[in-house]
Amino acid sequence: MDSYILILICIVGLCMGSFFNVVILRSLSGESIVFPASKCPKCGHKLYPWHNIPVLSYIFLRGKCHFCKEKISIQYPIVELLTMILFAAAYLKFGISIETIFAIILLSGLIIMTGTDIKEKLVDCNIAIALAVLGVIFSYLRVESITDSLLGIAAGALIIEITARLGYLFTPKVRIMGEADTYVAGALGAFFGLKGICIVLVYSVIASMILALPIYLYNRFKNNDKVTCILFILFVLSVLVFKTAFQNWYTVSAVGIIGILLSISVLKNIKNEGDRTYLPFVPALAAGTIYFMFF
Ligand SMILES: [Zn+2]
Repeated sequence: MDSYILILICIVGLCMGSFFNVVILRSLSGESIVFPASKCPKCGHKLYPWHNIPVLSYIFLRGKCHFCKEKISIQYPIVELLTMILFAAAYLKFGISIETIFAIILLSGLIIMTGTDIKEKLVDCNIAIALAVLGVIFSYLRVESITDSLLGIAAGALIIEITARLGYLFTPKVRIMGEADTYVAGALGAFFGLKGICIVLVYSVIASMILALPIYLYNRFKNNDKVTCILFILFVLSVLVFKTAFQNWYTVSAVGIIGILLSISVLKNIKNEGDRTYLPFVPALAAGTIYFMFF
């Protein structure tokens, strides 16, 4: 019986993912989510129903529009699969429970906001506000203290807002984090409470480094900034050496010195680059949340 429910949840996840793709694409352009019927963004040809089957259509069409052969964005199958995996994971983790329902709603909101943040660097804050309200209701239903949920909202929003404002010390003209990050962190606080949101934020910072550093370094490499790249490679190597072989003061100081040089180099570049340094943080918050929820 359990596996039937799991299969059902996977199918629902795939379909919802397909729907989220439309939301991500249309919500920011102000188009209606329900109408018009799906069409190819390139040639405008209306799609047949079997062009809309999550993941499978992408495979059958070999990632190209049936009519004009324009490439279909890889975003579609990725969002569909990701939604399916997360819905299934929520069910496997929490079973048939109120937790699963709220986890699925929270994850859905995060998927949409992550998508728009990556695509357009824009996030619909209303989604975050709605999630915050749901988070408080969730705490109430689980007979946990609403105060903790409200404190979580305050802590999440304040920590991000203060960080964003401290950033003006380095980049006076550019806000280092989007306004939406404040709302999203607040919403997460509503679900996880004061202690939970602090842990989620730590995970998110680690996630943002894992997600952002490769992009950042790729840009540096393209701009021929060899110093930062070499420092980074040295840093990774020395951390690995430190981890595996020599856990002594020489390697500790090597890791420390190279780490400080790398940080200075990164901060100097952020200062020089102006608005090009904006990195979407909602994906990191989503990653931090997923890690917190499932591990
Ligand atoms: Zn087309």
